[in-house]
Amino acid sequence: MLDYQVAIIGSGPAGLTAGLYAKRACLNTVILEKNFIGGLVATTYKIANYPGFPEEITGADLTDRMRTQVENLGVPFVMEEVEKITPVGNIFKLKLPQKELNVGSVIITSGAYPAKLNIQGENRLQGRGVSYCATCDGAFFRDKKLVVIGGGDSAIEEAAFLTRFASKVSIVHRRDELRAQKFIQEEAFNNPKMDFIWDSIPLEIHGDKKVEKITLKNVKTGEVSTKDIDGIFIYVGLRPASAFISELIRLDDNKFIITDEDMRTSCRGIFAAGDVRHKSVRQISTAVGDGAVAALSAQKYLNEQGD
Ligand SMILES: Cc1cc2nc3c(=O)[nH]c(=O)nc-3n(C[C@H](O)[C@H](O)[C@H](O)COP(=O)(O)OP(=O)(O)OC[C@H]3O[C@@H](n4cnc5c(N)ncnc54)[C@H](O)[C@@H]3O)c2cc1C
Repeated sequence: MLDYQVAIIGSGPAGLTAGLYAKRACLNTVILEKNFIGGLVATTYKIANYPGFPEEITGADLTDRMRTQVENLGVPFVMEEVEKITPVGNIFKLKLPQKELNVGSVIITSGAYPAKLNIQGENRLQGRGVSYCATCDGAFFRDKKLVVIGGGDSAIEEAAFLTRFASKVSIVHRRDELRAQKFIQEEAFNNPKMDFIWDSIPLEIHGDKKVEKITLKNVKTGEVSTKDIDGIFIYVGLRPASAFISELIRLDDNKFIITDEDMRTSCRGIFAAGDVRHKSVRQISTAVGDGAVAALSAQKYLNEQGD
């Protein structure tokens, strides 16, 4: 006996879109979420590249709208972590902390989480000046000196957001130019509160009860220096949230899920969409596209099962 025809694991833009399409295809659908609804976007300050919002929109507002659309259709949200998926015949058993669900198909939209620097002081001082989320923690750093590690779009946009609070935001980047899109770079170069420490990597974060200093190394000259700071925000890439299914489906070398263009994984009946899958562009627009395709592929799969 099935609890649901489709279980969607994760409620970021990929999961919410999959929910929308699955429910509109009249499939009995559930969305499971271990943290909060909206995924990574919900913690992003400003979205300027999602079509349809010429005035820009905050990540929280955008995901609230997506959530409302799905809720209005009557898709339930279960706020629990999926720990394991076990195929039994043509159903899938989803292990949650307190119970099990039997479902006909699974769409994995578990996304990715920020990579760590893996340097001394990082774990010990996390939440005490070390952060991976400017929207969540930026306001704690009014008139403080901050360092942002990274040179991509996320690093530079979030650094710009931090200048609303901080007195100074120094970008530390291991190369001598940024990876971020040109107009994002221009805004950053024109921001009087931002400066740039090129060709440098962080070696250690110091502090007793909170962040006090950071040691940096210039990778070209080898020079090591220490800088007084109050906080450090880290944007050095993403790691896929795929550990819970790593034994069941094929992953690439970096543990992203391999799919075909219909979002089918190596296990029939399991689909993957959004940042968790192997692909070249990880954005809201691509997550949304993946989510729609995955739901329609799940519908096709369930129809075939019913034949
Ligand atoms: C700082 C930053 C700024 C960004 N800015 C932009 C931008 O301006 N424009 C843009 O287009 N994109 C931006 N992105 C990228 C965008 O956020 C992602 O591409 C998008 O969120 C991917 O959506 P998703 O649904 O695949 O995954 P996510 O949004 O990561 O959602 C995954 C969800 O799955 C949940 N989950 C994970 N494992 C489990 C489990 N086992 N059980 C239950 N739930 C689980 C997580 O808690 C999470 O809520 C930004 C990213 C970052 C980090």
